[in-house]
Amino acid sequence: MNTISTEQERIIFNFLKSRSCCLRCCLRFIGCRVPSCYIKPFEFATRMGYIETGDNSFSDEAPCVMCLGILQDKAQESVVAKITDKVKQKDFDCTTFTCALTVPISVKLREYIIYAYISKEINISESAVSSLRGKLHNIKDTWKLFITPQLEQTMGKRTDLSTPSPFLIETFLVYDDDEIIFEKLIKKYKDDKNKRKRKHNANTFSRKSLETLLTETTDDQLLQHFTISQIAPEKFVRADNVLCSHSSIFVGGRYNKLSRELSQTPWFVNGEKKVETSVQDLLCNPVAEAVKAESIRFLAAGREDVDVRNLHNGRPFAVELLNPRMTNITSELLAHLAANINRSTKQVQVTSGLKVLSRLDLYRLKEGEDVKTKFYRALCVCRGEPGDGLPQVENLNKLKNIEIVQKTPVRVLHRRPWIPRTRIVYEMRARWAKPEELTKLLRTAAESADRFFVLDVKTQAGTYVKEFVHGDFGRTKPSLCDFLNTEVDIVALDVTGINLNWP
Ligand SMILES: [Zn+2]
Repeated sequence: MNTISTEQERIIFNFLKSRSCCLRCCLRFIGCRVPSCYIKPFEFATRMGYIETGDNSFSDEAPCVMCLGILQDKAQESVVAKITDKVKQKDFDCTTFTCALTVPISVKLREYIIYAYISKEINISESAVSSLRGKLHNIKDTWKLFITPQLEQTMGKRTDLSTPSPFLIETFLVYDDDEIIFEKLIKKYKDDKNKRKRKHNANTFSRKSLETLLTETTDDQLLQHFTISQIAPEKFVRADNVLCSHSSIFVGGRYNKLSRELSQTPWFVNGEKKVETSVQDLLCNPVAEAVKAESIRFLAAGREDVDVRNLHNGRPFAVELLNPRMTNITSELLAHLAANINRSTKQVQVTSGLKVLSRLDLYRLKEGEDVKTKFYRALCVCRGEPGDGLPQVENLNKLKNIEIVQKTPVRVLHRRPWIPRTRIVYEMRARWAKPEELTKLLRTAAESADRFFVLDVKTQAGTYVKEFVHGDFGRTKPSLCDFLNTEVDIVALDVTGINLNWP
């Protein structure tokens, strides 16, 4: 026979009751599954005839031998208060929550010892005990069933059983004498094993070592070494720590970089910030502050060099807001943030609205890295001897879909692998520069204004455009120098378009 009869359940219930187990532990050991039985256990047990009306043998004054007070109302009052305080103090605005619980290591050992006693002291078959083990209602689930309604009330938040809340409250319950009792028991067991000259390593106090110990220990051995009176607790568990966290929220948009002296990300050398600010700081810090995020991660579809601007529709970016406390992000707030960023600096501008991103949006940003095409405008100069005459730059306009091979540029060799890559330059449009386009850029009087030309180029993402212009000491083949048959250099570069439907 491998099921437990109602009569046997009653016998087991009374056995546990006589061994200082709390009412909820008695109910979960006989496998009660109805949530209400853990919320109002006395009502349930009376109705089912497990206890008489007015039975006061379940005292909340002494800790339960099995759960150490984890399932006892009185012991949990301070735990509920601690959780509530912590959540209020941290000021998370999420309206829902999910609970997680860590219990003392010895709870599992206690459960095993109780099973061993049940099989020894109650006339019940081995298969019936194994069926009983299968019915055990997990201690953490039991705790959540009766604690959650209390927390909903004290915190003014609710749980959502259909979708897990992004706001997680982790409670760590500890039993101060856990280690002492456990070590004593472990030592006894260890000595025994040593006598049999077997190698062992179950001498550290951890969940893993306990599990190893339990798989190697028979019920008889447990009974031999671990008696119920030995493990009788003197105090209750207490909440050692409560951790609150909210999963990341992603906000994204597009930006222009209007400065030729701004790096995309902060630059640190030996922990010291080397530049005053960066695209990342200017875009992300105001958002992170507004939602009270713990930290951020900046994600962008590619990057531009310090001296390169990006104009027109701008570069797609996203900011991951880690552990935000303010999570009700309205479109009004986002519009306000974008306007604030644009007012606060001339170096960077948000060119699209800001938007809270979905997983799909992030996937598109990542995917866009590979598929997008980019548009650039480069101001170039012919460096050949003045007497050589000027090349026909307009001839470049006829070239289409040129395949170029680029060895890793000298300027990025320190951070990129040394692998040649093939990229496509789809099309180009070149014209001689107008004087007004040069006023700010002519560095020396020796540079003659008529040697400058403007090149608009459409390329595959990942093309090193500067190197495509000057050839990088022959490391990019072919380059503009090859097409124009003269030495060409790049004076200024702008990103003028990134083809990605975003955000
Ligand atoms: Zn208990």
